[in-house]
Amino acid sequence: MSSPPAEITVECPQCGQYYDAWYRPSLNFMLEDFDDEYIERVSTSTCPYCGCKASLGVLIVNKTGDFNFQLPQANFRRKDEEAMCSIKIESFDSSKRLDVMKVLREITGLGLMEVKSLLDNIPEIIMRDIEQRKAELFKRDLEAAGAEISLKCF
Ligand SMILES: [Zn+2]
Repeated sequence: MSSPPAEITVECPQCGQYYDAWYRPSLNFMLEDFDDEYIERVSTSTCPYCGCKASLGVLIVNKTGDFNFQLPQANFRRKDEEAMCSIKIESFDSSKRLDVMKVLREITGLGLMEVKSLLDNIPEIIMRDIEQRKAELFKRDLEAAGAEISLKCF
């Protein structure tokens, strides 16, 4: 049985933009009569920003029971899953450098020297793959300490 379509968010492998699309994780040729054009349409996604067409990776089972899995080229996730974020320091109030360093050390667990060199190299991504709710809290704490933060969530 083919899986039902799921609404997903795709990260374009070419331009890095995020966009919404639909996706079926598996297709079964025994129960439904799919043609090549259909398979192509449900197993790929076209970026509305740059036109890049990327494979989403679909399990295809044919009439004889053989199957193959197309490896995905694009990162994507179901829309009902929580987004993951990277946290970037854009700038900070230099008179509050010590406050920013203190919060940074609490959040990242990094040592004093590492945090110092982070701040010497801004703008800099300080953490990746953080759940969105957590990332929003870290952003709030860092901004309260005097830093300007941007989140990129996927
Ligand atoms: Zn694109």
